[in-house]
Amino acid sequence: MSKQRILLISCGHFEKDLLESLAHDICREFGYPVSYKECCLEMSGYYHPGRRQYNANDILQATAAVSEPDVVKAIGLHRVDLFIPILTYIFGQAFLGGDTAIASLFRLRNELYGLEPDQHLLTDRFRKVVLHELGHSFGLIHCMNPVCIMRSSTYVEDLDQKKSHFCSTCAEKLLQLRGQYDNDCMKPI
Ligand SMILES: [Zn+2]
Ligand SMILES: [Zn+2]
Repeated sequence: MSKQRILLISCGHFEKDLLESLAHDICREFGYPVSYKECCLEMSGYYHPGRRQYNANDILQATAAVSEPDVVKAIGLHRVDLFIPILTYIFGQAFLGGDTAIASLFRLRNELYGLEPDQHLLTDRFRKVVLHELGHSFGLIHCMNPVCIMRSSTYVEDLDQKKSHFCSTCAEKLLQLRGQYDNDCMKPI
């Protein structure tokens, strides 16, 4: 089966405007049509009471289970605080070359850092995390270019320094990597 779309799985009751904006940017960067659906994962099983956070590895696996067979990649969108055992927190998670990814806007909110809420900045940061994690799922590794979307980000300030695009090197690599997904409708970006 030819896989011809990327799926956004909204697990945090995200507004339609945000989903459509993300879909637009994903389509621009990856060259695939994007669809989205609501999904209410039962999150309590992934909660770690000691850390008061949610286990990203478990949620990533659960996301794969609610994906659809004809999608090239799926990404779950969340509002909860994510962790993996070796890190205090993460913005998102993906397996390199895997089918699914996840992203959360919990740590992207200005309020968490004692600043005024900024919806525009929040959306911008979330967009960058989503594109970054999808990049990993297509097989892209971290990039040293300071403004490339595949630059590693530990803090929100790192995200704010990046653009919402791949650098020319990563864009070229992505084209090569996409070739393995056997998509007849694929057009060069
Ligand atoms: Zn990364
Ligand atoms: Zn790059």
